[in-house]
Amino acid sequence: MGLRDLSNEVVIHKRENGFEFLQFRKLLELGVKHAYSLKPHFFNTRPGVVSSETYSAAVDNYARFCNVIGVDVNKLVKPNQTHTNCVKIVDNLPGKMSIEEDMFKDVDGLVTNIEGVSLASVNADCILLLFYDPVKRVIGNVHSGWRGTFAKIAANGVNKMVQSYGCNPEDIIVCICPSIRKCHFEVKEDVKKLCEDTFGYTNRLNDFIEYIGKDIDGTGKWRIDTVLVTKVLLQECEIKENNIYDCGICSVCNKDIIHSYRGDGKDAGRGTAIISL
Ligand SMILES: [Zn+2]
Repeated sequence: MGLRDLSNEVVIHKRENGFEFLQFRKLLELGVKHAYSLKPHFFNTRPGVVSSETYSAAVDNYARFCNVIGVDVNKLVKPNQTHTNCVKIVDNLPGKMSIEEDMFKDVDGLVTNIEGVSLASVNADCILLLFYDPVKRVIGNVHSGWRGTFAKIAANGVNKMVQSYGCNPEDIIVCICPSIRKCHFEVKEDVKKLCEDTFGYTNRLNDFIEYIGKDIDGTGKWRIDTVLVTKVLLQECEIKENNIYDCGICSVCNKDIIHSYRGDGKDAGRGTAIISL
């Protein structure tokens, strides 16, 4: 614990009641309760994948972490996150903690304008986006792994806020949590090709994709900047560049502090991002 301090211009690294976490300076300034958890606490809750002991420990971590950041765990909603591009609204106050329940099955993003509701998501390298519209008082929390990124879930998050709550994209603030970054997101031909097919229209492929040479088997290897792709998608939706707050932190480079699938393997823990109204 307390190995290093990840604070930078965008986020502050805090240690409280045994928890290590990041908070976005901009959201703190606006009085929005939120946090991104760091190791050692984990939030793996997938039924049928984690053991009942792990599930119980993760739920207990949610209860204690919510307490640390001052949100009500009984009003916490977390979708099950299956790498879709589906974003839904939470339109009533849950009476208890809602984790991976059927109502939000095959959902990877949530938005709400209900005071007191907390939206949660988890990651181990995937991008997590926190949205806040201070004018309409609407929040969002979106999980965008590379599949979700290519399926434009970031845009779906913005569009849901606009269509459901009348948000003006120019008012929306987006915070980008720690995730795998271009330095570590190495892909083969198939994913590179999908990126080209999906984003060729942007004329930004040279910024998104970098050839890094041949693998041992003679096939090519590339790096993709999925965070940059996400920023471009957000700006296509009229999100202002100045309203995008990217922590700039790679989960793999910082796997001693941040849960990372590429860093820790299939038994990797999950970090959580929580935002509340
Ligand atoms: Zn890295």
